[in-house]
Amino acid sequence: MTHTSHYRGRFAPTPSGPLHLGSLVAALGSYLDARAVGGQWLVRIEDSDPPRCPPGAGDTILRQLNAFGLHWDEEIRWQHNRYEAYQQALDELVAKGLAYPCSCSRKQWQAFSVYPGWCREGLSDPTKPVAWRLRSDLAKRPITWQDRLFGFQQFDPNALGDVVLKRKDQLWAYQLAVVVDDADQGITDIVRGYDLLDNTPWQGQLQEALGLPIPRYLHLPLVVTHDGQKLSKQNLAPALAEDPAGIRQQLFKALQLLDQAPPDTLAQESPETQLRWAMAHWSVERLVANAHRRY
Ligand code: GLU
Repeated sequence: MTHTSHYRGRFAPTPSGPLHLGSLVAALGSYLDARAVGGQWLVRIEDSDPPRCPPGAGDTILRQLNAFGLHWDEEIRWQHNRYEAYQQALDELVAKGLAYPCSCSRKQWQAFSVYPGWCREGLSDPTKPVAWRLRSDLAKRPITWQDRLFGFQQFDPNALGDVVLKRKDQLWAYQLAVVVDDADQGITDIVRGYDLLDNTPWQGQLQEALGLPIPRYLHLPLVVTHDGQKLSKQNLAPALAEDPAGIRQQLFKALQLLDQAPPDTLAQESPETQLRWAMAHWSVERLVANAHRRY
């Protein structure tokens, strides 16, 4: 495929289980947004939290993406190979006085809505394991951005609190890993589910603290069950099909959930044909900015 733009998008699933219809919609939305402008589309497996990721789940996701015709560019990136880069970023934040070790337990601050920052001035107990937190009190405030679907967004970092970057069990937190990898992979556009919209201000704070470019953001409506719950592995979201007829039908459904109004006849077509149509017709304007979409 020839790339006619500088657009670099990505799909970055946490391999806590196979993809389901909700995650297929996120994958498809990011794929189409990239391909419609001749951009690149990368896949990153966010397995920085191995206890949450059953062995083989990352490979299952890659197989599912291929079966749905969602082929990626470049090598797959696995976050478990990236711990050194996350440590470098944390070291940089510590050197700038923007991150600090914290030995407090959740129980100690449970009366507060967010962690009140007691360890900011170096008061953590050196005999206890520490988590590393970002100082939200030093952030430029408020954090704002223009979401391509949900419009102008504004958050007060103080109200969000000092997010954990590295946990007491030494595992890397999503917020730091995602920012470091998006920058390292030159991602220009982030297209993902609405459930991550309120994580974006922490990521913006980190991008600023580390002097990294700020990508554009498009958050997609979340697919929810009939009683309004987010589709997830926990609430038994329907599994993705493996047979050709099921794959055609679910891909078509995913296009409908993205408000692309595919013609009925497309439902019988192969993934390649459906995707070719969808790339040619992709329109963010058609997306309706409701946070929740019943399937
Ligand atoms: N790994 C995250 C998840 O599966 C998504 C990361 C992102 O798109 O920023 O929820």
